[in-house]
Amino acid sequence: MNIHEYQAKAVLKSFGAPVAEGVPVLSLDDVQKAVDTLPGPLWVVKSQIHAGGRGKGKFIEDAAGEKGGVRLAFSKEEVLEHAKAMLGHHLVTAQTSAEGKQVNRLYIEDGADIDRELYLSLLVDRATGRPAFVASTEGGMDIEEVAHETPEKILTLPIDPTTGVTDADAAQLCDALKLDGAAREDGMKLFPILYKAFTEKDMAMLEINPLIVMENGHLRVLDAKVSFDGNALFRHPDIVELRDTTEEDEKEIEASEWDLAYIALDGTIGCMVNGAGLAMATMDIIKLYGEEPANFCDVGGGANAEKVAAAFKIIMKDPNVKGILVNIFGGIMKCDVIAEGVIAAVKETNLAVPLVVRLEGTNVEMGKEIIKNSGLNVIPADDLDDAAQKIVAAVKEA
Ligand code: GDP
Ligand code: MG
Repeated sequence: MNIHEYQAKAVLKSFGAPVAEGVPVLSLDDVQKAVDTLPGPLWVVKSQIHAGGRGKGKFIEDAAGEKGGVRLAFSKEEVLEHAKAMLGHHLVTAQTSAEGKQVNRLYIEDGADIDRELYLSLLVDRATGRPAFVASTEGGMDIEEVAHETPEKILTLPIDPTTGVTDADAAQLCDALKLDGAAREDGMKLFPILYKAFTEKDMAMLEINPLIVMENGHLRVLDAKVSFDGNALFRHPDIVELRDTTEEDEKEIEASEWDLAYIALDGTIGCMVNGAGLAMATMDIIKLYGEEPANFCDVGGGANAEKVAAAFKIIMKDPNVKGILVNIFGGIMKCDVIAEGVIAAVKETNLAVPLVVRLEGTNVEMGKEIIKNSGLNVIPADDLDDAAQKIVAAVKEA
């Protein structure tokens, strides 16, 4: 689950990280009040959307496209001007679609005088199985580009969970970021704070780009992007409250309500599967036979007829779907139960596109029999190869 920058900063602040004073704003009426609480002479007006690259983004309505989604203001009047140009408008960044995202919230912040922009993040390093810091002096820019062009400028530092961030770890990070004086003192305190926030709140990623050294020599978290491990959200009702569903794909929200994992893609074949590995294999083989998946919906291990029907409805909401491939391994759930769920769903949703069903596992013969005898236009398949060929052929005919 993702949250907005201003929410991430509030979480980090509660752990003691240095962030600017700021006020989130939902409507133009609130801008004046917000700006009066901040000292000036510099304010920053920041579009709050769940996508990065806002500063370099462009508003669709701004034909000249001169100013991005993060703007400095040198007077209170200018704050209002920027707010008007942002609220309700669509911001396109390198991380959004071409339609962009509508800006419904702003964050108005006390501006900082920047000396240097640094990069710092925390993530779970799969190679070591530990939380790891990623640090670079090249902040404020695309870190993937830095990793590609100048990998020597990036330090990856895994942290031993039994000790947490040691003084030696913090010193190593300070060195990598070339911190001295007050900034170094701030850094020695900040790294353990971020680690604590990351682990206690079950974050999946915490990215501060940039972390800045201000002209007064101190550190400040200038941008913050945080995502949380969905499997641990039950432990954090305070975090769940920060969810902004207007930022999420409608179909993905509906899927999450049913505890289904739905991923939208660009092709024509809707895929219903159980398990991520099977999803990958299914999509690979569809591509092998010359078509592209439109999406996949993972119904998981314990799907029942209701859940299968919900998955069908979600898959069918995508107008690009020209056919559906159901590829399910009956392990915990038996194939006859799945078959009955599929038949019920087809009847309930008045499915109008070709459907190929491949079942394997416990009670597979019973499952195939149920599908064959249903009288519905469902194409049975013997194995994954057969299933992929059949759905690709059916979609090409249609
Ligand atoms: P992003 O473009 O979505 O990553 O948004 P950021 O919050 O990282 O802001 C983009 C850029 O705006 C930063 O890299 C800074 O250069 C600039 N910026 C943001 N806040 C301030 C500020 O308080 N003072 C100054 N001088 N520049 C800022
Ligand atoms: Mg940034």
